[in-house]
Amino acid sequence: MSRKKIIAGNWKMNMTPTEAVELVNTLKPLVANDDVDVVFCVPAIDIIPAMEAAKGSNINIGAENMYYEDKGAYTGEISPAMLKDAGVKYVVIGHSERREYFAETDETVNKKALKAFEYGMTPIICCGESLTQREQGITIDWIRQQIKIAFLNIPAENAAKAVIAYEPIWAIGTGKVATTEQAQEVCQSIRSCIAEIYDEATAQAIRIQYGGSVSAGSAPELFAQPDIDGGLVGGASLKPEFGDIVNYKK
Ligand code: PEP
Repeated sequence: MSRKKIIAGNWKMNMTPTEAVELVNTLKPLVANDDVDVVFCVPAIDIIPAMEAAKGSNINIGAENMYYEDKGAYTGEISPAMLKDAGVKYVVIGHSERREYFAETDETVNKKALKAFEYGMTPIICCGESLTQREQGITIDWIRQQIKIAFLNIPAENAAKAVIAYEPIWAIGTGKVATTEQAQEVCQSIRSCIAEIYDEATAQAIRIQYGGSVSAGSAPELFAQPDIDGGLVGGASLKPEFGDIVNYKK
C-alpha cells in the first residue's frame, strides 16, 4: 500500500505570535509540495495567527498538546473543543518532553488520543526509548508496550487514521540522528504491533514518522525506508531547511 508521507514541524516553546506569522510567511513557498501532508505544530497562542498566515497554502496548522477533558476547571489547559473550533486537524500527543517535564504517561496519552478522535482530529502519538533502554536492548519491548497502551479502546477505523511518531529520546535535539537501520527496525516493529492489535489492513494504513534530529541531509534516506512515512521535525522546522526536508525527493 502506498501511504502519503506526512512531515510535521514541532515548534516546541518557540515563536511569539508575531514571529509565527513571519515564519509561516517565510516557509510557505518553500514547503509547497502536494505529494506530502505538511503540518506545523505550533504553540497554542500561535494557532490562530499561524492559520491566518497559512491560508491558501498547503500548510496544516496543528497543536503540540491538548487536555483529555472536554471543559472545566483545568487552569492553563487547552481543550479538544478549543482546538477543533480553531480548525486544528492534527495534535501531537505524548511528546517525550511532555512525558519528562509534565508527567505525561502512557495512560494519559491513551486518554488524549481517544479524545482527539472523538473530536475528529488526528493524533500524532509519540513514542520512543531512552539511551539507557537502547543500551539495555529493550527498545522494541518498550515501544510495543507504549503502543499497546496508547491504542487501548481505539477502534480500528480510527487507528488506521492515526499518525505514530517514533522518536528515540537520545536523538531529540541532540544532532544525533538514529541510523536508517535503527529507525526502520523500530518503525517496522510498530507496524507489526499494530497488525497484532488490529489487523494487517490497519497496519498498512497507519502512518509512522521518524523524529530525532532530522535534517535536510538525513531526510531522503530515512523517508525512503519502507516503514517510515515521514518525519516529526523539531529544530529544523524553524528554518528554511524545513523546505528542503519537505521536498526531500526533489
Ligand atoms: C522533536 O521535537 O520532536 C524533535 C524530533 O526535535 P529535533 O528534530 O530538534 O530533534
